Amino acid sequence: MASGVLAGRLAIVTGGGSGIGKTICQVFAREGAILAVVDIDKSNAEATVSGLPQGSQKHQAYTADIASSTDINAMMAQIKSQFSVLPSVAVNSAGITRDNFLMKMDEKNFDKVIDVNLKGTFLVNQAVGKCMMEGKVENGSIINISSIVGKMGNIGQGNYAASKAGVIGLTKTAAREFARFNIRVNAVLPGFIDTPMTAAVPEHLLQRAMFLVPMMKIGKSEDVADACVFLASDRSKYITGTSLEVAGGLGI
Ligand code: NAP
Repeated sequence: MASGVLAGRLAIVTGGGSGIGKTICQVFAREGAILAVVDIDKSNAEATVSGLPQGSQKHQAYTADIASSTDINAMMAQIKSQFSVLPSVAVNSAGITRDNFLMKMDEKNFDKVIDVNLKGTFLVNQAVGKCMMEGKVENGSIINISSIVGKMGNIGQGNYAASKAGVIGLTKTAAREFARFNIRVNAVLPGFIDTPMTAAVPEHLLQRAMFLVPMMKIGKSEDVADACVFLASDRSKYITGTSLEVAGGLGI
């Protein structure tokens, strides 16, 4: 029998093939969860699964573009047929950036970021919420990974900041609508976290950004994953609609 605060819970994690999502899968598995690892990149999702400790129920990898309702619906059907328990946890970590100054940003890159980060999060909340409601889960928890930039704005990230601010509004609405179905919905707002996404940021810009962080250091994906364990587990059973900042004080 698995032990840990997520023992026996089936957790869907989008963006599970890389960075924060991958670490969430690892930390959740250590806490006893069974993982449905979702990513647009099949081999990355499979690599995450193969690195997880195997319990009595096997973790599974799924390929889906979260911006496609066809992909999301097919994925949910597979998950329902392949596991003996219904999902009671979902984390939306899939996300992209296409940075540029507003004056230089083309419409295509604005739409793409909104499509993945905001519409994709909506589609997953809708599909997972429906599945949890139909299955009458007693302790559903959906966690949407937003960003501190959604609260603060950020030069060169108008599309990304708008998408992440949208995720906060979506989360509060889902929290209100899903509460009577025993499903909590919360957002996590990471600051600067060391992942492949931030590896693209030039070193001199990262160093300058560190001066804005009261704790004066970059965060680790484990820091975000630990916050997600809390929000996924019953330790946070009276918390819904909140935005938990994991940002070393950036944005306070
Ligand atoms: P990451 O390493 O790039 O991981 C994101 C994962 O999502 C990648 O595996 C990516 O696949 C996948 N993905 C992209 N588009 C997808 C789609 N349409 N459908 C399914 N999967 C898709 O980034 P990260 O740093 O871990 O970021 C994870 C989340 O945290 C994102 O929502 C990000 O906005 C948020 N966040 C990150 C930071 C930070 O400092 N790192 C700060 C605040 C918020 P590909 O690699 O193939 O594109």
